[in-house]
Amino acid sequence: MTIASVDQAIQLISSGAAAGSTCSPELAAGPWEFDAGTPGYGPGSSMGDVIPTGSPRQGALPETYRVASPEELAGRIRAAKDTLGDRVVILGHFYQRDEVLQHADFVGDSFQLAQATKSRPDAEAIVFCGVHFMAETADLLSTPAQAVILPNLAAGCSMADMADIDSVTDCWEQLEEQYGTTPDANGRVPVIPVTYMNSSAALKAFCGAHGGIVCTSSNAPAVLEWAFERGQRVLFFPDQHLGRNTAKAMGVPLNRMPMWNPHKPLGGNTAAELDAAQVVLWHGFCSVHKRFTVDQIEIARREHPGVRVIVHPECPMAVVDAADEYGSTDYIKKAIEAAPAGSTFAIGTEINLVQRLAAQHPEHTIFCLEPVICPCSTMYRIHAGYLAWVLEALVGTVDRQPVVLNRIVVPDDVAAPARTALERMLTAWPPAPARQDA
Ligand code: SF4
Repeated sequence: MTIASVDQAIQLISSGAAAGSTCSPELAAGPWEFDAGTPGYGPGSSMGDVIPTGSPRQGALPETYRVASPEELAGRIRAAKDTLGDRVVILGHFYQRDEVLQHADFVGDSFQLAQATKSRPDAEAIVFCGVHFMAETADLLSTPAQAVILPNLAAGCSMADMADIDSVTDCWEQLEEQYGTTPDANGRVPVIPVTYMNSSAALKAFCGAHGGIVCTSSNAPAVLEWAFERGQRVLFFPDQHLGRNTAKAMGVPLNRMPMWNPHKPLGGNTAAELDAAQVVLWHGFCSVHKRFTVDQIEIARREHPGVRVIVHPECPMAVVDAADEYGSTDYIKKAIEAAPAGSTFAIGTEINLVQRLAAQHPEHTIFCLEPVICPCSTMYRIHAGYLAWVLEALVGTVDRQPVVLNRIVVPDDVAAPARTALERMLTAWPPAPARQDA
C-alpha cells in the first residue's frame, strides 16, 4: 500500500481501514484529549510503554486553540511569529508533523537543533518543537537569559524515560562493587558511562560527574572509541539497540555485551558475565524503531528489486544486519540527497521524516518499511494548537501581558556536569553545524 501522507495514514488507522495496523485509532483525536486523563504517552508507537510517575504533565489547552481549524492556527502562528521577530526562534525535529514544522526556523535532529540555539543568542525565547530531553539539551547550550519552551509538557520520550537517575545510580554502585575503582596498568578505569543524547539532563550530568560522555546516533562509534581509550568497559544507556549495533560493528562480540535489567540483582547477569563484559547495555529501546522487522525488508526487496534499504541504528540488530545501510536521520537524509535520480529507498525510521523526504525528492521512490506505521507518540503531542498558544502568550495575547509558558529549566547543579559530558563529546567528535530550513 502506498500512503500519500501521514494524515492519510492516520485516517486509515482511525477508520480501521489500515489492515494489520496495531496503532490506536485515537490518533485522530487532538492531543489535549490525553493531557487531562491518566498519565501516559498517548496514542502512537509508545502507547504501550509505562510512563514513570512524576513525568511532566500538561495542563488544559485553552478552548480557542482546541477548536481552531488548521488554517486559523497557521495564520495565528505566523502573526505571532511576525510580531515577535528575532525575539523568538522555533526549532523543529525531523519527526515532527508538517503543520508544526512549516513554522520552524531550524529543522534537524536533536543535537543539531540544540546547537542551533548558539547561532541565535539574540533570541529571548527558543520554542522547541520536539520532546522533553531535547528542550533540556537546548537549555544546557543556550544562554541564561534565553527561555527554552516546550509547547506541550507531555511530549516526553519513552526511551529516555526507560533509564532514570535512581536506577542508573543503583546499577553503577553494583558495577563498582563488581569491578572496583582501580585503573589497570594502562590507566583505564574499570567502566565508563556513556549516555545517548536521548536521555534526561540528570543522566548526562551523571556521565559528566563519573568520567563519562554523551553520544548521538551519528557519532556513537567515535564516542565508544573515546570511552575504550579511557575505560576497560562501557555502561551504555538507555538504548540497547544503538549500543549493540555500534559495538558489534566495532568488533565487540555479542557474548561480551550483557543486558542490564534494572529490576534484577546484577541486572540479571552472573558475576562472570559482568567480568567478561566490554559493553553493558541498558534495557531500553525506542518503540518507534523496534516496530521494523526483517520480514518488512524481505517484502520491500521482493516488491522493489534494486531497492536500497536504510534503517536507523535504534532498530533491532537483526533489522540493521538485514538492511543495506544504517545511520542517523542526517545520514539517511544525505544518502537520499546524494543518490542518482530514479533511486528507490525503503527507510526504517519515523514516518513523518520518511513522508517528508518522499515529498522533497519526487525524483526518487521513497517509502517507509512499515507502510501504516504509528508515529512517535510524544512528538505527536506537539500540535499546532500548542505552538500557537505558547507564541501568543509571548506576544501577550493570552494573559494580556507577555508570559513565558512551559519553560524548561535544568538546575545549575545538574547543568554543570551535564555540560561537561557534552563538551567531552564535542572534543571526541565535532559535528557539522545545523542547517537553516534543512
Ligand atoms: S522516536 Fe523514539 S527515541 Fe525518538 S522521541 Fe520518539 S520514542 Fe523517543
